[in-house]
Amino acid sequence: MQNKHRKLAVIVSILFILGLITFDLVNSFKAESKNQRLVSESLNDIQKDKSVKEVYLNNVKYNNTIKEREFKGENLKYNDKSVPVLMYHSIDYEKGNELRVPKGAFREQMSYLKQNGYTTLTLDELYDFFINNKPVPNKSIVITFDDGYKDNFENAYPVLKEFGFNATIFIITSTVDANKNYLTSPQIKELEENGIDIESHTVKHEQLDKLTYAEQLTTLKNSREYIEKLLGKQKKYTAYPFGKWNDDTIKAVKEAGYSMVFTTESGWGNKSQGIYELHRVYVSANCNLKEFERRITDASYNKSN
Ligand SMILES: [Zn+2]
Repeated sequence: MQNKHRKLAVIVSILFILGLITFDLVNSFKAESKNQRLVSESLNDIQKDKSVKEVYLNNVKYNNTIKEREFKGENLKYNDKSVPVLMYHSIDYEKGNELRVPKGAFREQMSYLKQNGYTTLTLDELYDFFINNKPVPNKSIVITFDDGYKDNFENAYPVLKEFGFNATIFIITSTVDANKNYLTSPQIKELEENGIDIESHTVKHEQLDKLTYAEQLTTLKNSREYIEKLLGKQKKYTAYPFGKWNDDTIKAVKEAGYSMVFTTESGWGNKSQGIYELHRVYVSANCNLKEFERRITDASYNKSN
């Protein structure tokens, strides 16, 4: 009798333990599949919210491009020195229009920079140089284009890509997808993804010193927000249309979230000019290679004649 009971007790215990194990296994399976569901749901959410994904990807790329460049070695300079910031407009020849630099001349100038070992800084790097005194190569240069003409994409971009150069285009946001002479949003996206930084040049190329403070703030703010929305990236730099500004403009650019601004005053950029009033080196269609060379090798070229 006792033996029978013991056997029964053992069988019951085994069954009980088996039951527990099964219960546990089923539960853990359930939990796992629930987790899997959660993972795929959140992936779906990310995929559904394309903008979130794009912002993330852009940030990753953005951080890679700016944070990986630490300039080291002996041929460095600090922010007591100047940097030439080239100012172009259109890269497409037109007789009698000096703002339109022929494609061949532009290529010759870029080729000169490459052959002579120039480093093309991004605006983030230039900002770091001026504000945080992060050193840059002695032969540093910044390439900028004003207005956002479509020939910047068709004629300048292939050359910049060929030489692996960074550049910045200041765009008039009301022209995007609206005027055939200017960059389209797909072109802007492609440029931005390939080392050509897109920044604001106001909404309608307003002459800022003729506007009220509120109007200045609106065009500066709206153009920045337009580009940020289009590219999913923070934008911090601008250039004054017609090179005109007043005291209100300085207040408005700060209020609108800009941290560095360019004028059309001629000369190399230097921190003594003020971070909202940086000078640039104008390159016109009348500028031959010799003059180009003079302007980028002599920091006081604009004072020497
Ligand atoms: Zn302009």
